[in-house]
Order: sequence, then structure tokens, then C-alpha cells
Amino acid sequence: MKKIQMVDLKGQYEGIKNTVNNSIQEVLDNTAYINGPQVHKFQEELEKYLNVKHVIPCANGTDALQIAMMGLGLQPGDEVITADFTFAATVEVIALLQLTPVLVDVDPNTFNIDPKAIEKAITPKTKAIVPVHLFGQAANMEAITTIAKKHDLFIIEDNAQGIGASYTFANGTKKKTGNLGHVASTSFFPSKNLGCYGDGGAIFTNNDELAHSIRGIVNHGMYQRYHHDVVGVNSRLDSIQAAVLLAKLPNLDTYNNARRASARKYNDAFKNIPQIITPVTHTKCEGICDTCDCHVFHQYTLKVKDADRDALVAHLNKNNIPCGVYYPIPLHAQKAYTDKRYLESDFPVTNQLVKEVISLPMHTELDDEQIAFITKTVIDFVTK
Ligand SMILES: *Cc1c(COP(=O)(O)O)cnc(C)c1O
Repeated sequence: MKKIQMVDLKGQYEGIKNTVNNSIQEVLDNTAYINGPQVHKFQEELEKYLNVKHVIPCANGTDALQIAMMGLGLQPGDEVITADFTFAATVEVIALLQLTPVLVDVDPNTFNIDPKAIEKAITPKTKAIVPVHLFGQAANMEAITTIAKKHDLFIIEDNAQGIGASYTFANGTKKKTGNLGHVASTSFFPSKNLGCYGDGGAIFTNNDELAHSIRGIVNHGMYQRYHHDVVGVNSRLDSIQAAVLLAKLPNLDTYNNARRASARKYNDAFKNIPQIITPVTHTKCEGICDTCDCHVFHQYTLKVKDADRDALVAHLNKNNIPCGVYYPIPLHAQKAYTDKRYLESDFPVTNQLVKEVISLPMHTELDDEQIAFITKTVIDFVTK
């Protein structure tokens, strides 16, 4: 059996080596390392793929979120609602901009932000909602869109984990994540579903004015050379990373399908194990049929019931099976993000999830032998 890895970037590279190498070689040959033609080409290709009007590449997914918020003109003291159960980058940039993060609880089945909790947290200072499409599944955008319209709030999608996923609204409209709110951010960190070989990120929007504003912000607030109209940042996707992404983008759907196929195999193996709760999706197709793309399984995350999750982690590691606990501590309990207004009783779901979740190896190169070994090792442990 091939060594099991959480993410097998080497195996994936083997399959696209010539394309990636040639793409990088072009950058080396023309030496336009910053803002080279690959950056523009990638931007255009991604706009087509997402069917979104503007893609603005930047240096990483955290910058992308921050720049999206700067572009919207959010001001210190404005409240921004986001999920308690996500990667810290989401809340970090809110705090950095001196906006007020307001963390709310999540849905116990999809792990995504709970619309009821959003409504409860809205005050006259609330300006935006940041849904995170956690683990690759779109948040409940139907409900979130309704709330945002009712209270005149911006929706900033954190699509770092969801690129390639779709969401179908009740009226039948189907769109890709990253194209569901006012503005969206994504990350091309190597382990993400569309990863480069370093850092990278992008901002998406259909709003021309906002796109123009953001294009200046990523480039020191310049709209005309050496005229600085606003305070900006330096956040660029470099040409070599764009070259890698150009080579990988045509494979994104194939890669996401491979993830879904592995998720289906995991689900089948765990079907009759009461201690293991497999990922639940809120759409009719259960998220992993062949024709649907509502979940792209950035992570394959189980809930462990009536068994010791931490002991399971240790047992898997002992058997050379890597795994992850995303996330072990709720954001509201992190020293940097405590707030006197939070009550523990506001976060029953997150407080429970941090004790129960475990993410198994998930990538584009998992094979049947590996999945059989992983699932057998998990099942033997929880049923012993
Ligand atoms: C990875 C990630 C980010 C940050 O992306 P970087 O490119 O590492 O800065 C933000 N939000 C979520 C949910 C992520 O998973």
C-alpha cells in the first residue's frame, strides 16, 4: 500500500508534471515574475469557470478577505457576523481592520453558520455577514441571502475551502460558490482544492465599482501610477503561482469528483456504524452523487459519538494514518477573540463539535486499498 497522506501533492503533481513544468518554464523564459501574462490569463480563465464578472488575484486567502472588507468600505466599530467554527483567518481580518467580530453558532449537521443565530446577533451596527463554505460545502445561502436583504447587510463569502462547489437556490438557480454574495474570497494555499505551489488568493465580485476599488487596494491604493487615493496594501499573486494555477484549473472538476468518489466510499464503509456520523448535506442528493457538485470535500469530517475521539486520533496515528481535528477550539474561546458579550450558552453546537470532529485523509489521489485500510482501522477502534 502507498503511504497514506492527509494530502498527496506529490502524487497529484506526477499526473500533471509536464503541463506544470512547461507553464512555469514560460515564466522563467519571459522573466515577468510580477504581473506577467499568466496572472491575467488565470484571472480570465477563473472568471469563465466561476461565471463571475471580476476575479482579482492577490497574495493569499487571508489578504483576500481583508481586501474584500476594505473594498466594501467597512468602518471601525462596524459589526461583522461570522461562524464560531472556522479557521481563525476569517475573524482575524475583521479584528485587524478594527471592525467588531460577532461570532455565532453553527448547524450541527453541515457545520456551517446557523442562519437563526445570525438573525439573533444582528444589531443596528451590523454591516456584513461572512459565511464560510466550511469543508467544501456551501453555507445555507438561501436563508443568509434573505436575512441580508431584510437587514441591508453585505455578504462576504469565505470560499477558501469551497472552490468548485455549487449552490442551488429554492427557485432552481444554480451558481458556483464565490458567486453567491456581494464579494467573495478564496485561497490557493497548496492543500486547498485549487492549490498553487506557494501562497495565493483571489477576490471575486460581479460589481464593477467594487472590483475597480479592490484593484487599487491590492496595489497600494493606486488607480493611476504614483497617485495613492486610498490606503492600500501590497498583495499580489506572482506569475509562477499563476502559471501553476493555469495548469491546474482545467483539472479542478476532475479533482473535486475524485474527492467526492472517495467521500462516497468512506460513507459506504461507515454506513452501519452508529459511533460514526458521516457528513450530512442539506441538499436532496446527499451531496455525493455523480452529477451533483454541492460539496467538494475539502475535508471529509466525521462526528464520533460514544467513543473517545482523541484516543481514535492517537490510534490512527499509531497505524500511520494521518488525520486532523478541524477545529479543536471554538474561536470565541481563543484568547485573541474573547468578548464579554459572549455566553457559553450561545455556542452549544460548536462547543460539542470541537470534541467530536475528526477529518480523515482526503485528496485527489486516495486509492481503494488506502480507504479500506483507513475505514477498517477506524471501525475496529470505535466498535471494540
Ligand atoms: C485557508 C483558509 C483561509 C486563509 O487562506 P490563506 O491563503 O492561508 O491565507 C481563510 N479561511 C478559511 C476558511 C481557510 O480554510
